[in-house]
Amino acid sequence: MSRFFSSRYADLSPYTPGEQPKDIPYVKLNTNESPFLPPKELGEALAKEVEKLPLYPDPECTELRALLAKRYGVQASEVFVANGSDDILNAAFMAFADPVKGVVFPDITYGFYRVYATLHHLPFREIPLCEDFLVKASDYDCQDAMVVLANPNAPTGLTLSLADVEGIVKNNRDSVVLIDEAYVDFGAESCLPLLRKYDNLLIVQTFSKSRSLAGGRLGFAIGSAELIADLSAIKYSMNPYSVNRLTLAAGRVILEHDAEIAKNCQEIIKIRENTSAELKKLGFSMTDSKANFIFAKHETLSGEYLCRALRARGVLVRHFQSKRIAEYLRISVGSEEDMQKLVSSLRAIVNENKENKECKQ
Ligand SMILES: *Cc1c(COP(=O)(O)O)cnc(C)c1O
Repeated sequence: MSRFFSSRYADLSPYTPGEQPKDIPYVKLNTNESPFLPPKELGEALAKEVEKLPLYPDPECTELRALLAKRYGVQASEVFVANGSDDILNAAFMAFADPVKGVVFPDITYGFYRVYATLHHLPFREIPLCEDFLVKASDYDCQDAMVVLANPNAPTGLTLSLADVEGIVKNNRDSVVLIDEAYVDFGAESCLPLLRKYDNLLIVQTFSKSRSLAGGRLGFAIGSAELIADLSAIKYSMNPYSVNRLTLAAGRVILEHDAEIAKNCQEIIKIRENTSAELKKLGFSMTDSKANFIFAKHETLSGEYLCRALRARGVLVRHFQSKRIAEYLRISVGSEEDMQKLVSSLRAIVNENKENKECKQ
């Protein structure tokens, strides 16, 4: 830290992204990216857009918002787009968390919620998940603070029912309830049907996980026109051009290929279930994930050991130090080939440890 760094940020503890090492070609199952290429029509659309790169992009993102509105059956005024959904979370924490009442979220969830709360000097409370990692909806009633929940949750992959989400939104009418649906396309239920009933609901989604655009950075939010106007006020106070021309074009093309995206998601679900079955045979147990990752622990081998052993064999998965989940691995669902490599590596690691044990006895 330089001697010029503002004391305002002395308490900052920045988010740690999943590693992106370049030393050898790894099978990358640590950041929940899509194994599928974006629609092939994207190349041509982007090439055309290059001619327009001397010009600023449309700060209103008019065309893309209209397409998203059509896709989700809402008004364009109810849609906000930003440079990844992290950008929206940041704006939402700024816009909707009261400086005194702050924000609540589960103790085990997406790490960025705590980072944004700290960044914006917001008091925050982490509500413990149940023993089985489920969110107990009634814990969130009458919080008198902004409520942030990922559904499906990360890194557990577990979901809240629509009825539970509605209960939480209904019982916090004077606070914004932000539902982060980054993984909703892999078999969970969106709370979009609640939009007309509640003006305190903000739904956040992303093109990063199900739409093969993590590198393009595109997220969107759906909520009442008033909430969206507030997010815009924050955006226009920071960076009106946060979504660049190439990404806007990419988003438009991808929305025209909904059937292809849906097929990719079905494929991910199939691979997730098949891989889970294979892992069970190797002594793993896992949560009932409805996301594009598997959250699994082994009956004898520790999470930290397995993460290291897999890395040595060229497979990256995510391991969290946090105590309650230290025995778990979060394994992104990659291509069938990626998952074969994962399973064969784990089989070798498990067998190796069995042999070692037998030698010692
Ligand atoms: C990946 C992820 C995000 C961020 O996605 P971007 O759109 O790439 O910024 C937000 N929330 C959760 C729960 C995520 O897992």
